[in-house]
Amino acid sequence: MTLTAPPAETAWLLHHVLGFDAMAEGDTLAILEEATRFAGGVLAPLDQPGDLAGARLHDGEVRVPDGFTEAYAAFAAGGWVGLAAPEGQGGQGLPAAIGLAAHEIFTSANFAFGLCPMLTQDAILLIEAHGTPDQQARFLPRLIAGDWTGTMCLTEPQAGSDLAAVRARAVPDGVGGFRLSGQKIYITFGEHGMTENILHLVLARLPDAPAGSAGISLFAVPKRRADGAPNGVRCLAIERKLGIHASPTCTLAFEAAGAELVGPMHGGLACMFAMMNAARLGVAMQGVAVAERAFRRAVAYAGQREQGGAPIVHHPDVRRMLLTMRALALGGRLLTLHAALAPPARAALLIPVAKAWATDAGVEAASLGVQVHGGAGYVEATGAAQHLRDARIAPIYEGSNGIQALTLLRRGLMRDQGAACAALLAGIAAAEEGGEALRHAARLAAEGAAWLRQAAPREAEAGATPFLHLLGTVTAGWLCARVAADPSAPPPARVAATVFAEQVLPRVHFLAHALATPSAALVGTQPIL
Ligand SMILES: Cc1cc2nc3c(=O)[nH]c(=O)nc-3n(C[C@H](O)[C@H](O)[C@H](O)COP(=O)(O)OP(=O)(O)OC[C@H]3O[C@@H](n4cnc5c(N)ncnc54)[C@H](O)[C@@H]3O)c2cc1C
Repeated sequence: MTLTAPPAETAWLLHHVLGFDAMAEGDTLAILEEATRFAGGVLAPLDQPGDLAGARLHDGEVRVPDGFTEAYAAFAAGGWVGLAAPEGQGGQGLPAAIGLAAHEIFTSANFAFGLCPMLTQDAILLIEAHGTPDQQARFLPRLIAGDWTGTMCLTEPQAGSDLAAVRARAVPDGVGGFRLSGQKIYITFGEHGMTENILHLVLARLPDAPAGSAGISLFAVPKRRADGAPNGVRCLAIERKLGIHASPTCTLAFEAAGAELVGPMHGGLACMFAMMNAARLGVAMQGVAVAERAFRRAVAYAGQREQGGAPIVHHPDVRRMLLTMRALALGGRLLTLHAALAPPARAALLIPVAKAWATDAGVEAASLGVQVHGGAGYVEATGAAQHLRDARIAPIYEGSNGIQALTLLRRGLMRDQGAACAALLAGIAAAEEGGEALRHAARLAAEGAAWLRQAAPREAEAGATPFLHLLGTVTAGWLCARVAADPSAPPPARVAATVFAEQVLPRVHFLAHALATPSAALVGTQPIL
């Protein structure tokens, strides 16, 4: 059974549909094939055992499942942590889109494992963009080499979607640094023994900070000091949770921990948001990855399970489920990579769309995967249930999908008078490949955007998620139409692209209707009984 997207198909999409030409197609293919070998040989065998064993906390130390420590060392030694990191710091300097395509492959093989390098890569981006030359020299080579991993410490009990409520505090230590105190919750790979150190990137307030989001600064807080001594960061607990069991989700206490400022004072949220685009694309790809993996498991099962005198893959309703899964994975992949390669205005418009659309697609596909397995999908042995449990986190973290929809509404539609959105939809309406159905879908999205722009604020908020799905479906539908129209496309991709046009694109009618007819009960403020 294959577990991941076919490398040749992804390379073809990048070079023939998405206009990626920063390197030769043969080189793209070679890298993705190597990633596939590593994913299949090292990461996939740890996926189900890791889910079963889970991460465990013993005396403040987190133990990851067997094999994870060696796998992380091999991952880093293979150059995968620093695939898209600067060459001067030990990275390979490859384009971000290649990093994203490889990340899909690794995540398909092992969602929980993939989180650790994903967050480390986010930390690398932050230090690269905002660290001093000295911080870059101290941190980047270690993160890239796999000697350290990175975390993002944003969330506190009262500060989830609303980061303006962050309370952790940092005070000057009198010798140029800071002492940071407070509690962070839900910190992914916040503690583990896989590497000699962990670099926590933490949002906290300085004593004289203004209230709200303008008063938050970013700090680098290593788990251990330069001399190897503990630095005042303790793991108090790890969560029991629905999925990604092998990924420790930690409550961290910072107890006057030694900290250094990264970026400007009070400018922490802006620094964080600057790299959040990359992080959101990474999470979007988690949705794609789990959709693809769930599809591959389900199609293998459907080929050997017989009911009604034939393997169930013979039955049109089962084929509907399988091909919808594959169409969702293809649409999500195209949407995410298109957003990653787009110029800034289109990227800003589409990144929240990709994050929410692709992660919801991941959940839908994983749920269909359970359904294809019947009862065997609901019990744990086949692994289909694990994909659904793992997939469910991606719409929640890195800005919940509801927050992505509000970002699309407020920044994508309002800030530039909707210019980037109008340009995208005009381009789609003018595209030859999709025919009248796609043109009509683009018109519905343009009308939806116009409606939201004139709606009262609470009406617009009620329509934000249907609009995000409408725009995502139209954009993915447009990219799929290019695949379907190209006779040189890999045949399975052409089939999936056609199914997208015929079975997924028609969802735009429902979405357009729902967004422009908000129920009074949604817009009102009366108690919900
Ligand atoms: C497994 C796991 C790993 C995580 N890893 C990390 C990590 O590494 N680092 C880190 O800092 N955090 C991490 N998080 C935290 C995660 O980012 C937050 O859970 C997420 O941002 C949502 O915040 P919340 O849980 O407080 O939910 P809330 O903010 O309480 O949101 C609850 C619901 O209300 C909606 N909502 C909230 N505000 C609004 C609004 N203004 N308008 C409309 N709807 C709204 C949301 O969309 C959501 O559906 C992790 C969480 C989990 C579960």
